[in-house]
Amino acid sequence: MPAHMLQEISSSYTTTTTITAPPSDDLQNGGEKVDKTSLYSEDIRPEMKDDIRDPNYEDEEGPVPKLEYVWRNIILMALLHVGALYGITLVPTCKFYTWLWACMYYVVSGLGITAGAHRLWSHRTYKARLPLKIFLIIANTMAFQNDVYEWARDHRAHHKFSETHADPHNSRRGFFFSHVGWLLVRKHPAVKEKGKLLDMSDLKAEKLVMFQRRYYIPGLLLLCFILPTLVPWYFWGETFQHSLYVATFLRYSLVLNATWLVNSAAHLYGYRPYDKNINSRENILVSLGAVGEGFHNYHHSFPYDYSASEYRWHINLTTFFIDCMAALGLAYDRKRVSKAAVLAKIKRTGDGSYKSG
Ligand SMILES: [Zn+2]
Ligand SMILES: [Zn+2]
Repeated sequence: MPAHMLQEISSSYTTTTTITAPPSDDLQNGGEKVDKTSLYSEDIRPEMKDDIRDPNYEDEEGPVPKLEYVWRNIILMALLHVGALYGITLVPTCKFYTWLWACMYYVVSGLGITAGAHRLWSHRTYKARLPLKIFLIIANTMAFQNDVYEWARDHRAHHKFSETHADPHNSRRGFFFSHVGWLLVRKHPAVKEKGKLLDMSDLKAEKLVMFQRRYYIPGLLLLCFILPTLVPWYFWGETFQHSLYVATFLRYSLVLNATWLVNSAAHLYGYRPYDKNINSRENILVSLGAVGEGFHNYHHSFPYDYSASEYRWHINLTTFFIDCMAALGLAYDRKRVSKAAVLAKIKRTGDGSYKSG
């Protein structure tokens, strides 16, 4: 697509809602302790508040409970990764269409997480019409990272209780824990306790999300494993082995690891131009793999922004996708933080690494 046409898509749709940030930090400057949560009462998304950090929540003192391993998950994850490593050795000998199919599956299932579970269902940063929601729920099932309801509950807890024991992938517990370890052990009691209190009524009321949850196991078996393996084998005569190890195991483990890097690397490595008081960081490499989700200091500072970045299409395939959907009339009411609010935040709480221009 020529550049001017792309520009057209971006600028001609004016349904974006620009919003200003909640005023909480301004009021902190006097040095008094202010109950920040009450200040969010005029949040830009009246229906959605439980992804805003709760500054009053802190870990309780006391010993960390003993890790309880979930052996089924450990064994399945290990087998998947061994299969993926073997898949790498088969890449040079697989058919071109198989490679193309695996790449397509990577991108579509990635969007099911980023544009679907994350920006639409966890944060409500834009609205989608039914055909787009159906596409996203299918793409999300292809990615098999738990159903949307569970993903969103974990993710809202991750934002609200960041870097505490109630954060399911608390990055204070190290790279491995926040990357994959959290999926291999029983949840910390604080995650269960605080997770139960989150407002999930919007998702409970959404029939499509509940439908996916109800039929999740047959859905994921079909869309994450059976379909991607059978298509190359049946349609262009790929060997069953290449189909299984490259298009299924290797592709699935790459999407998983790209997503996990947002929780691990983007909470540990990178600058914090918007808020130096939180752990999440701007990480371009993560953005490349996770189709636009690496601008993570911005995202935790402004979780209601549909681009999850100060910029739109800069290393952000997900925003490009949402904008294309808006051009087709399938996405609307995209929330965007005003430039003035971003600059004010940078000035107040940034780490000084911000380059203007
Ligand atoms: Zn995060
Ligand atoms: Zn998020």
